[in-house]
Amino acid sequence: MPELPEVETVMCGLRTRLQERTIVRAAVNRPDMRWAFPPGLEQRLNGARVIGFRRRGKYILMRLAGGWSVLLHLGMSGRILIGPLRPNQLVPHEHLEIETDDGWRIGFVDPRRFGSVDLVKTVDEDRHRLLAELGPEPLSGEFTPAVLSAALVGKRTPIKAALLDQRVVAGLGNIYVCEALFRAAISPRRLAQTIPGARAGRLVPAIRATLAEAIAAGGSSLRDYVQPDGELGYFQHAWKVYGREGERCERCVPPIEAGCSGIGRIVQSGRSTFFCARTQR
Ligand SMILES: [Zn+2]
Repeated sequence: MPELPEVETVMCGLRTRLQERTIVRAAVNRPDMRWAFPPGLEQRLNGARVIGFRRRGKYILMRLAGGWSVLLHLGMSGRILIGPLRPNQLVPHEHLEIETDDGWRIGFVDPRRFGSVDLVKTVDEDRHRLLAELGPEPLSGEFTPAVLSAALVGKRTPIKAALLDQRVVAGLGNIYVCEALFRAAISPRRLAQTIPGARAGRLVPAIRATLAEAIAAGGSSLRDYVQPDGELGYFQHAWKVYGREGERCERCVPPIEAGCSGIGRIVQSGRSTFFCARTQR
């Protein structure tokens, strides 16, 4: 499931092909994904010039001349395909197609249809129902230890669950929460109400560094490696704990001296958490 760095990478890829281009054809191929496509989407896109992009949490906003923005969410399995225009191209599960005036074709493919597309006036982006409740952007100056502390005061849920709550901080999912907690040496089971103060002071820079590294990896994937089908955003990245159950953790080397039995896995709220039980307290 795409999280903030993957969404940022997808947005950068879209920007390279769509910024300052005019959309010469747009087609909606079914009535809905997670929700119905907004009425008039094709008409709004046809002939529109794309003037900018913005990411908010896991959402992409594509801004059109004329004051409208297209809100995109990739859901669980949504993918954006970009390639040169080919006649009679058929892609399974492609629910939205866009063609540009310079001969590129962009498709939103989502077999499971948890993704969504909406239209919002650009001036009202932050009032859209899906964006209005989002917490601070983790890479912005608004996300400080004091702000995180205030959001966690009195919360009797594990910090893992608290960080997945998009109202606490926007854009994190299962992978980057595991990675950031490892980096901050904070146990995923620790109650959120014990984080305010010094631990929040470690956690905020850990979240920022984790995301910044992943975004850098995504950026280099765009530059260095054009996949044959032009799929954006799902780059290879070396996780420190995610998906590494039983492997040696980088802080507990050599393992005998450190007494670390390797990276552990527990299930919290139905989802796997990967962590080092020795160093994350
Ligand atoms: Zn360890």
